Amino acid sequence: MKKIAYKNCGILIIGSGIGALSVSSELCKFHKKVTVITKGLRKACNSSLAQGGISVALSENDSAKLHFEDTMEAGCNLNDADAVMKLVSEAPQVILDFIKSGMEFDRDENGALCFGREGAHRINRIVHAGGDRTGLRVVEQLLRNITSDVTIEQNEMALELIARDGKCAGVLARNSKTGEITAYKADCTILATGGIGQLYPSTSNDATITGDGIAMAYRAGCRLKNLEFIQFHPTMLTIDGKAYGLVSEAVRGAGGVLINDRGDKIMENVHPMKDLAPRDVVAREVYAHYLKGEKIYLDISAIEDFSEKFPTVTQICEEHGADIKSGKIPVAPGAHFHMGGVEATTEGITNIEGLFAVGETACTGVHGANRLASNSLLEGLVFGKLLADYIVNNPQKGADITPEIPETRLGKLPSKAEIQSKMMEFLGIVRHSEDMKKAIGWFEQFSPDGKFGRIDVVNTDDESIEIYNMLTTGWLIAKAAAERKESVGAHYVE
Ligand SMILES: Cc1cc2nc3c(=O)[nH]c(=O)nc-3n(C[C@H](O)[C@H](O)[C@H](O)COP(=O)(O)OP(=O)(O)OC[C@H]3O[C@@H](n4cnc5c(N)ncnc54)[C@H](O)[C@@H]3O)c2cc1C
Repeated sequence: MKKIAYKNCGILIIGSGIGALSVSSELCKFHKKVTVITKGLRKACNSSLAQGGISVALSENDSAKLHFEDTMEAGCNLNDADAVMKLVSEAPQVILDFIKSGMEFDRDENGALCFGREGAHRINRIVHAGGDRTGLRVVEQLLRNITSDVTIEQNEMALELIARDGKCAGVLARNSKTGEITAYKADCTILATGGIGQLYPSTSNDATITGDGIAMAYRAGCRLKNLEFIQFHPTMLTIDGKAYGLVSEAVRGAGGVLINDRGDKIMENVHPMKDLAPRDVVAREVYAHYLKGEKIYLDISAIEDFSEKFPTVTQICEEHGADIKSGKIPVAPGAHFHMGGVEATTEGITNIEGLFAVGETACTGVHGANRLASNSLLEGLVFGKLLADYIVNNPQKGADITPEIPETRLGKLPSKAEIQSKMMEFLGIVRHSEDMKKAIGWFEQFSPDGKFGRIDVVNTDDESIEIYNMLTTGWLIAKAAAERKESVGAHYVE
């Protein structure tokens, strides 16, 4: 048995994206001690990669009501209306406070905020920073806003929640550099582990995003919600079938148009909003052309000063040999965002005492069946603040739980590539009822107990634990997809 070190850390946050940093920076205002553990380096997260921006009803012709309606419409009205109302009505003040703390969003020559446009928004309401470098700028500002009360431990992979009988008292983690295992004992444990993008072969997501949070929460007895709703982004830079990063929807908001090899505009008769239709609609159309063997491009020839407006997209294209000057960027859809996750209130409360969830790993129901573009950075900021306020007003007392490590060991596992290929085949952009059932059976062959229960994480290497988490999350998604009878939003059944 390997030796386990113990650390007591009051408030523990797993992950270092916008959800985690938003909670941390708010808690700093109350001098709370916080420990953040993260799998890679601190900026390795989807938040740093975000391009388009943050949606907020701050422009003169906008209102929380309009933002509410667009969010509900994109989510096919399966959204939790109260959560949406909280998000859109708190948003303006949260963004103004963030600006006051030092965040610089792009402004016009008169000093007014610039508002960009993205799919399914009826008006321009996306604030951005550094053109399409919004995510990185936001993460850097949040890191500047935290004080020495917050300790960030890097290369520390959470393996298993320390949980029993509906209570959580921290997490077991392993340092990928030293191999040292630590039991972080906490009064309050916050899951901020992001989405599931790496379950698919083509994704916009960071390499660390393998669905660990959902798998750990499931093993701890957490309720999960809406797992079947996975948003595919229509425009990943794709060359010879391989995806190399995202081409933000803001490019279409600025006048980019999807065309096929013959130059036909593919969204012309598909939806009244054409290229700015909701993401699921655009992704399905691009995918249908792709399956027919057609190449799809984003025609950017009408966008002036493209490289200045979209420095990140320009950089990704240059790095991978896509010539911006040709006026066409080759694109295909890729897994982007998970609407489902750990069932939580807008304050992050889950059904497990002492365990909270925030950001993409949480499912408050705010996104319904399909997230409105640029609502997720906003979710991290707004619900992160609500969670911090809740903890300040309701001090938590950790349960007395000793970590228990079962002896269950894993058998032969598939490779990550095999899991990704099965996810795309069985649970991709267009789904079929029989495939979803097949997927459940395929996953179950790799579960030692048939229900993806706890294993001996201490004597299992990190790569195998990631694979086990991917299998667990894939299996849970397959079961949720098979249970949802109607075809709706991102769960499109043919
Ligand atoms: C390319 C791209 C562009 C996007 N553009 C936009 C946009 O313009 N606007 C918008 O609103 N949204 C955008 N999104 C979505 C948005 O960025 C994410 O939904 C949001 O950043 C999620 O924040 P988070 O804090 O929940 O998770 P993340 O930022 O993904 O952070 C999760 C953290 O958890 C860590 N972690 C995972 N597993 C473990 C583990 N086992 N142990 C320890 N740590 C772990 C990860 O390493 C990471 O640090 C974009 C996403 C991508 C990928």
